[in-house]
Amino acid sequence: MLKELKGVGASPGIAVGEVLVLEDEDLSYEKKKIKDTEEEKEKLKKALELSKDQLNAIKDKVEREMGSDKAEIFQAHLMVLDDPELIGAVERKVDGEEVNVEAALDETVQEFATLFANMDNDYMKERAADIKDVGSRILKNLLGVQTLDLGQLDKEVVLVAEDLTPSDTAQVNKGNLLGFVTKIGGRTSHTAIMARSLEVPAVVGVSDILEGVESGDKIILDGQEGNVIINPSEEQLSDYDKKAKEYKERKERLAQLKELPAQTKDGHRVELVANIGTPKDVEGALANGAEGVGLYRSEFLYMDRDSLPTEEEQFKAYKEVAQRMDGPIVIRTLDIGGDKELSYLDLPEEMNPFLGYRAIRICLDKVDIFKTQLRAILRASDYGNVKIMYPMISAVEQLRAANEILAEVKAELKEEGVSFKEDLEVGIMIEIPAAAMIADVLAKETDFFSIGTNDLIQYTTATDRMNENISHLYQPFHPALLRLIKRVVEAAHKEGNWAGMCGEMAGDKKLAPFLLGVGLDEFSMSGLSIPEVKDRIRNLDLEEAKEIAQEALNFATAKEVEDFLTSKLNN
Ligand code: PEP
Ligand code: MG
Repeated sequence: MLKELKGVGASPGIAVGEVLVLEDEDLSYEKKKIKDTEEEKEKLKKALELSKDQLNAIKDKVEREMGSDKAEIFQAHLMVLDDPELIGAVERKVDGEEVNVEAALDETVQEFATLFANMDNDYMKERAADIKDVGSRILKNLLGVQTLDLGQLDKEVVLVAEDLTPSDTAQVNKGNLLGFVTKIGGRTSHTAIMARSLEVPAVVGVSDILEGVESGDKIILDGQEGNVIINPSEEQLSDYDKKAKEYKERKERLAQLKELPAQTKDGHRVELVANIGTPKDVEGALANGAEGVGLYRSEFLYMDRDSLPTEEEQFKAYKEVAQRMDGPIVIRTLDIGGDKELSYLDLPEEMNPFLGYRAIRICLDKVDIFKTQLRAILRASDYGNVKIMYPMISAVEQLRAANEILAEVKAELKEEGVSFKEDLEVGIMIEIPAAAMIADVLAKETDFFSIGTNDLIQYTTATDRMNENISHLYQPFHPALLRLIKRVVEAAHKEGNWAGMCGEMAGDKKLAPFLLGVGLDEFSMSGLSIPEVKDRIRNLDLEEAKEIAQEALNFATAKEVEDFLTSKLNN
């Protein structure tokens, strides 16, 4: 049945294809007493065989397509399956406690994983993750739950899901992913951010998407407008084919700007840089003409794993980015919390995670974690123009405390004879209204600011950035935001510092004249948005932008501001 739905356009582009619904996997079971222990052990044997077949198939495919080093992990998983100690322990539990095999397996896997996780050796710690992975594969096979391996999509699909975790999106086989639609999330949810770095069209926050849609249905999604059509008519299909063609042509035209500077008609130059999550994103950033990295979200290095990344692992990632990018690289220290969780840190459940124990607040408390990261960043600073940025600063004391730890780490490295760039710039994100209000004070003790509008909007308007029920109140064009931005840029300039922006507002071409007009020096955004914003900047005069900024500041409502800035788009 034809169904037209509206969500939030999270990543531009048009996709037309077949739906694949990603169901939440239900791995619940009941722990029961059983009499026939032999039958339970027979079930285990079958599940082990099936798991072995699945793993061998994945291993062969990965080996063929991505090389044998990428397939090593599956070899390790196969070894866990064959481990007589683990399997023997499950069987003994079935016999000894006369419990069903699901419970015996699950409990044994937890015990073994905990044992390994607590070992004082990185290699052994990593084995805990393998044991858990394999354990959940066997459990799925025992319960008869179909496993959908996103790395193995074997035909082109549009994924439809409640939400996609960063680990889901990191695994997908991009060649076959046409786009995705999720029920929850807003434009600045991390699912949306990942979609833009994958450069696939996406619509998020479509509240009714999971009702009445099945795998195999035909779907159109427009990631610019936020439109989703399930089982479209012939007419709609041909309309969207035309739109997809226009989109492609525009993209090709904008690609011609790649080597040109982000400069207004009257010669005012700004810096257009990219937001990245992993070294893999550098390629897309460069392809879109990024002059550097304005925000390296280092927390992605900490996610999708079972333990903290070591100093060496972090150093390798930061160094790779520093070596591949000629321009500045702003590495943001760990910004975990809110919608970005780390299961292995065992953080407490909170009533208001976005207002809770997160980012710099965790780093100033768990100093060892912070120091390890700072060491890795400092070491990487020897390989490129690296800068450090602290997230979620709300008070000057936090900045001072972070800088004290940085000074200690520098002294330690010096004593060890490790080289790093001693005068690397240190800045902060301005994403909390309190920081915006004391920007004049903070500017005296920093080298730069980067305005994190994704959070600044949420905290200024008291609107959860993930909650689709109140997304109409999450207003980038709110007059309060415009005033705060102006204030922050002026405060930076007064101290001779530069001011950038790495929230999604920087990538909205409607806002380009306002941001230019108030003096923003650096615009950092997903690589995909760079050509559009550059095109806009190259068609403006600085004087004209200043007038637009002045006028925009006079409106009373977000709607008036947006209408005004939209009207300027067509001039
Ligand atoms: C922001 O808050 O604007 C920002 C860039 O950080 P993140 O989206 O990672 O919270
Ligand atoms: Mg933020």
